[in-house]
Amino acid sequence: MPIATTNPATGQVLKTYEAMSDEQVDAAIERTDLAYRRLRGTTVGQRGEWLVAAADLLDAERDEIARIMTTEMGKTYAAAKAEVTKCASACRFYAERAPEFLADAPADAEAVKATRAFVRYQPIGPVLAVMPWNFPLWQVMRFAAPALMAGNTGLLKHASNVPQTALLMEDLFRRAGFPEGAFTTLLVGSEAVDRILSDPRVRAATLTGSEGAGRSIAQIAGRELKKTVLELGGSDPFVVMPSADVDRAAEVATTARCQNNGQSCIAAKRFIVHTDVFDAFAERFAANMAALRVGDPMDQSTDVGPLASERGRDEIDAQVRDAVDKGATVLCGGQKPDRDGWFYPPTVVTDLTPQMRMWSEEVFGPVAGLYRVSSYDEAIEVANGTAFGLGANAWTRDPEEQERFATDLDAGNVFVNGMTTSYPELPFGGVKNSGYGRELSAVGMREFCNTKTVWIG
Ligand code: NAP
Repeated sequence: MPIATTNPATGQVLKTYEAMSDEQVDAAIERTDLAYRRLRGTTVGQRGEWLVAAADLLDAERDEIARIMTTEMGKTYAAAKAEVTKCASACRFYAERAPEFLADAPADAEAVKATRAFVRYQPIGPVLAVMPWNFPLWQVMRFAAPALMAGNTGLLKHASNVPQTALLMEDLFRRAGFPEGAFTTLLVGSEAVDRILSDPRVRAATLTGSEGAGRSIAQIAGRELKKTVLELGGSDPFVVMPSADVDRAAEVATTARCQNNGQSCIAAKRFIVHTDVFDAFAERFAANMAALRVGDPMDQSTDVGPLASERGRDEIDAQVRDAVDKGATVLCGGQKPDRDGWFYPPTVVTDLTPQMRMWSEEVFGPVAGLYRVSSYDEAIEVANGTAFGLGANAWTRDPEEQERFATDLDAGNVFVNGMTTSYPELPFGGVKNSGYGRELSAVGMREFCNTKTVWIG
């Protein structure tokens, strides 16, 4: 993939970049390693001041950063501005809470025959972050803020279609005061990842991306015996039971499917509705989806912008065509528009069968699959009948059913009567083919710490 900014709303290539040479990459790794030696000697208070300075810069430069993101990957300008603000909040969260998350944790000294015993959380060194374009600032920040606070340094290999966003992240942390090299952007293609992760100075990797990229990075990391956190794809279920507030569920379902132009790992993708409320839900949901305005992402009145790439748009169109050819019913949308840019209309497809690609594949665009079930057990069977396990939504006002869903859904996140969202306060990650490890909260911060046992006799 060329490293370039191409506006998805027009298909126009705006700026291209040369990939860095191996020598340039080696020099960047050296700078990052040196920065690690400096950073680990600083206090958590000092690092917190730098992170708050980064948050202040994000707030001050929000509109310009958002404009770059919208230009590079097509999310609406309003969504891009909200993403910048969310990143600033995450920086402040970690600046404030890291002293508590990193404090020595005392253990029962008597039980282990010590005079003192405790756990100390220490940094491990430079971490490679391979990141996707869909939340180009947030995905990077949810790794970078806790990693830098812990005293690690970061090497960012961002997606090839968001080079300007990638470069501004490096610039942001430098201007915020972090030592030179503490956070470095490598403009390289995915073929360079093996060499970088094999470098002994790079201690671990985190990837947010597809299952295929996850398998590749896990193989390299396995060979090199390095820790990884993998945040991969999802095909999240959104279950609606008879006791649900159907109007509200249909409204949130629309947002949950079409947020970020339908390109979110935790977007609800499969809508599994009890037969008692199926018709009511289907009618409202399809009407809401059809009412969304598709258009220029910079326009304030647009709800859904273009897909980030032509390949991505053609992929969801092929998934819909495959379902229709095999007998599925389209309730709204379903036609690739004849216009410049990589647009696709919000679409609802029902009467799906296991022979159709949509049944088992992740659909990374504003296309919903609608399933009818007739019991709680059948809802769980369909919801869990996927290789993925990232987020899951259940709509029910029955307290007993809420408890059961929380236990029975095979997912890293279960949201009842709401849509899956990531919060700095809560761990985030998946099970099954959605990956392993967690980001955010104290749990995410400690993924890249040496959890050191100290025993003093
Ligand atoms: P992708 O192709 O896997 O790309 C993600 C990143 O991985 C990019 O930087 C890409 O570089 C790199 N990459 C791709 N193949 C690689 C390989 N074999 N070895 C090393 N690096 C590789 O993902 P995408 O299709 O652009 O992004 C959408 C996917 O990400 C969806 O499956 C989505 O669900 C998932 N996602 C997951 C989460 C989560 O938190 N679980 C969040 C967001 C997105 P290039 O751009 O240079 O190819």
